[in-house]
Amino acid sequence: MDKNSLAYWQDKAATLSIEGRAFIDGAYRDAQSGRTFDCVSPIDGKLLAKVADSGAADVDAAVAAARRAFDARVWSGLNPRKRKSVLLRWAKLMREHRDELSLLETLDAGKPIADTTSVDVPGAAYCVEWYAEAIDKVGGEVVPSDHHLVGLVTREPIGVVAAVVPWNFPLLMAAWKFGPALAAGNSVVLKPSEKSPLTAIRVAQLALDAGIPAGVFNVVPGGGEPGKLLALHADVDCLAFTGSTNVGKLIMQYAGQSNLKRVWLELGGKSPNIVLPDCPDLDRAANAAAGAIFYNMGEMCTAGSRLLVHRDIKDAFLERLAVAARGYTPGNPLDPQTSMGAIVDQVQLDRVLGYIEAGRAEAKLLLGGSRVKQESGGFYIEPTVFDVKPDAKIAREEIFGPVLSVITFDTVEEAVRIANDSDYGLAAAVWTGNLTTAHEVARSLRAGTVWVNCYDEGGDMNFPFGGYKQSGNGRDKSLHALEKYTELKSTLVRLR
Ligand code: NAP
Ligand code: MG
Repeated sequence: MDKNSLAYWQDKAATLSIEGRAFIDGAYRDAQSGRTFDCVSPIDGKLLAKVADSGAADVDAAVAAARRAFDARVWSGLNPRKRKSVLLRWAKLMREHRDELSLLETLDAGKPIADTTSVDVPGAAYCVEWYAEAIDKVGGEVVPSDHHLVGLVTREPIGVVAAVVPWNFPLLMAAWKFGPALAAGNSVVLKPSEKSPLTAIRVAQLALDAGIPAGVFNVVPGGGEPGKLLALHADVDCLAFTGSTNVGKLIMQYAGQSNLKRVWLELGGKSPNIVLPDCPDLDRAANAAAGAIFYNMGEMCTAGSRLLVHRDIKDAFLERLAVAARGYTPGNPLDPQTSMGAIVDQVQLDRVLGYIEAGRAEAKLLLGGSRVKQESGGFYIEPTVFDVKPDAKIAREEIFGPVLSVITFDTVEEAVRIANDSDYGLAAAVWTGNLTTAHEVARSLRAGTVWVNCYDEGGDMNFPFGGYKQSGNGRDKSLHALEKYTELKSTLVRLR
């Protein structure tokens, strides 16, 4: 059957076997309470699997297994070359299982199969490869000090790392944590989102198959509770979180209430995409602006959800944007032709529709605004665009759906001021043909990533990724991410 057809993937889905148990100490296990939760597909609202609802006993077991493995040095004590080869094998297995993992991700999260096969799964494998390849090349320092001393500065794994991740790129966001954490020699307990636990559960078996020792990589799915339990756990050394700013604030409190575990937060955004009147290519900019908010159903932490467009080019730009938006008509995520899939679940669907209602009251609807494909039983929203004032609720709060706020400005200074007037600072973009303006605006934007004449470029692991202000702390990707999962040690040796 043609792999490029809906029928092929529907057929594969019909025979897919789905594992829903937690993975602890090298084996799949039911929750000790016996509890499960329903894992539902947003494609049609149907039950996919019953998934273990991990509670305190399961979290304790996972953390204890991780600690035992760490203390026994079965992973951290390996020559980095050896860790590298095991991780490379794991990444290879992910690539070999690309179709299966992509299908799980698409069924579970509603993401188009064209994206999961080309971005999510290969991206996760690449992340693991990248850190695997780095780990036998990064060393410590010998630092200047008194002549009678030898001063060493080294990095050591921090111990037990818990990773709590969201549902928009379930496997990829998890890989951005477990890639560097495992490469650095830590044990990991991964808590996937209740909305999308399936790929995390599946890759755990592949980790074991690749040779990652039992206890080094554990997965505890569950509805909110395991995340909190991990963040409060006295034997977790580091909590790496990607998710909402509200939960991020709670996690910092849990760390303060417990053992001051290191907390790394990748949080929300309300990223500005600024189009200046000397934008060199309006068509490209309009296509990128549409992609910035409609790719992945707008369920993007970096979504370009505020389009700041100069008054002189506004009409011309919005015409092009409307054309580009047509490329994101919601369709069946299992169809390889689909570029916009389903919203992850009913809760998120209602949340986005609530924002659209708020938008109708405070702004002018330019495009879309409705739930579609309701007969499918799934959760779909068409690309939606509002013309707004900068202080509108929909222009300030993160929606995490395909809803764009267009804001009009008259001067560069005004655009920068509006762009920075946000609690968030994850990403930003500016379009201009003037090199000086590009650099000056890029410098003045308070954001962890700034794109010039593009949006969402940068699949390479070399770029640190993370936010200013309430978009978080620390960075995923790049060699800098290794710093989060290591402690720095100064060793001073007196010679005489
Ligand atoms: P979320 O509601 O904050 O959940 C994130 C994770 O935290 C999930 O695994 C969730 O589990 C868990 N959790 C919920 N309550 C918790 C608590 N009290 N203590 C500990 N853990 C808890 O966020 P989301 O809705 O999954 O994801 C959307 C958010 O993630 C958006 O704000 C988006 O911007 C952000 N995001 C940021 C980045 C980035 O790199 N900056 C990337 C992607 C997404 P359950 O799902 O099981 O409740
Ligand atoms: Mg799901």
